[in-house]
Amino acid sequence: ELLNNITNLKGSIRVFCRVRPILQANKMKVRELVETELGKMVIRLSGGAKEFGFDKVFPQEATQEDVFTEVEPILRSAVDGHNVCILAYGQTGTGKTFTMDGIDDQPGIVLRALEKLFDFASIDKTSTLTFSISMLEVYMGNLRDLLVAKPVRAMHETAIRCSNLNIQTDQKGFIEIEGLAEVQIPDLTKAKWWYNRGRRARSTSWTTVNETSSRSHCLTRISIVRQCDHDGEVESSKLWMVDLGGSERLLKTGATGQTLDEGRAINLSLSALGDVIAALRRKKGHVPYRNSKLTQILKDSLGHDSKVLMLVHVSPCEQDLAETLCSLSFAKRAR
Ligand code: ADP
Ligand code: MG
Repeated sequence: ELLNNITNLKGSIRVFCRVRPILQANKMKVRELVETELGKMVIRLSGGAKEFGFDKVFPQEATQEDVFTEVEPILRSAVDGHNVCILAYGQTGTGKTFTMDGIDDQPGIVLRALEKLFDFASIDKTSTLTFSISMLEVYMGNLRDLLVAKPVRAMHETAIRCSNLNIQTDQKGFIEIEGLAEVQIPDLTKAKWWYNRGRRARSTSWTTVNETSSRSHCLTRISIVRQCDHDGEVESSKLWMVDLGGSERLLKTGATGQTLDEGRAINLSLSALGDVIAALRRKKGHVPYRNSKLTQILKDSLGHDSKVLMLVHVSPCEQDLAETLCSLSFAKRAR
């Protein structure tokens, strides 16, 4: 019972930190400021060292396996009926997409999670698990379905396509995204096929001029239905895996026009996310879900009964120090 109390006290929000390795091309040029110790991140500054505590810290050399090992328990919770939300946060270029999507020979969390879910399904002897997938992108307050999307070129065309996705609350108070495709995935091969399709739709989206993926949020939702073979009782839950837009403050980088608007939209939704998590942390009072599309969509999976895992990504380099400190203080609020 003592153990139970301790886990309750800790709450259902976990915050991990992953440090991106120095990219080969920069090896000679950069100075490293970030050091890691067990569950601790240390930044060496001229005035002394600053320390930040996390539930887990992954150093530069951590592998995708190392990360997934720590993520795995939360997937068990999803299958057991909890809503789960895994979020990748950080400045552009710090490895959010690497962690969530991965690269060819180093798959990330989403693919490993899918594999794990089908493992759970095959070893479960008392109930039948079924999964379906949805993917969407949130860009400047617009929602775009990634599983039915075709590449679009013009912004106005995009806006038209977005307009049929509405966030609704159903009779039971659950969030529903009207018009969002939800595809049954009977096996891992089909699951991967749909997921890769969604990823491709993301990279060809919105405009051809800018690399906009860093200024949009990419959300993958796995709906889990578990039916007990004995009495037919049905339990359902949602697993969200989110590659958030870059957290950098664009105002400083001299961004103008469209880029500036995109940056503002991302910053607003990320701070709304921070507010929601901070409110959940306090465990009482009003939780301000309504302040952004992102937090409205994720509401059911950011609540008191759900499990949240925030993976904060930082660069080890001196030149990124200001953004690194911002990301670490964002994380501190969540923890
Ligand atoms: P973000 O999505 O946060 O903008 P990316 O995931 O695109 O960042 O990462 C930027 C670059 O760094 C990519 O080329 C990516 O493959 C590489 N990278 C990021 N994290 C790692 C890592 N842990 N190991 C190896 N390469 C990484
Ligand atoms: Mg990315």
